[in-house]
Amino acid sequence: MENKSTVENNLVEIKEKIEFLENLYKLRKNEEITDFNDGLILRYVEIDSSEIRELNENIALKGAVSYAYGLMGGKTGILILRDVVPKKFRRYVAIHETVEVVTGNHWYAVQDEFKAAEKELSKENFKEYCEFRLKMHKNNIKTVKEIRGWVSARTKRVLSNVQKELGIVLRKRPDQP
Ligand SMILES: [Zn+2]
Repeated sequence: MENKSTVENNLVEIKEKIEFLENLYKLRKNEEITDFNDGLILRYVEIDSSEIRELNENIALKGAVSYAYGLMGGKTGILILRDVVPKKFRRYVAIHETVEVVTGNHWYAVQDEFKAAEKELSKENFKEYCEFRLKMHKNNIKTVKEIRGWVSARTKRVLSNVQKELGIVLRKRPDQP
């Protein structure tokens, strides 16, 4: 169990992170992009990952950061890393982050993100999107398995093919070393 001072330190860290992102968002507010999906308004700004390097080096892998606090009338903001996420995929990253901010549930976010991408992207681009997403979790088999539980049968098939191509092995036979 974490002791009190560790918890307090973490809270200070989270508060500083939110303030940092909030300020960055404010600076870019005039470049805000608005989009829509399934009754949701998507609003985000695009930044370079170098701008948030001091926050956390793992963030760059994910392609976006979002912050949210104060459930009622609180402040939220989504920042997408343009050097990490190709332009044609930013909408789906925005859907993920928006659903996550609204529901607080990462798996609902995965579900809606893949649903929209599967519906809207060409076959070729959708496969590329699956590659882009799975590469983020190449070293986390548990996450790859969980994603499969939240997507359609068609998406699951595309993900399976991409997994094979990327060499992501979900299950090893017991006799394998
Ligand atoms: Zn998420």
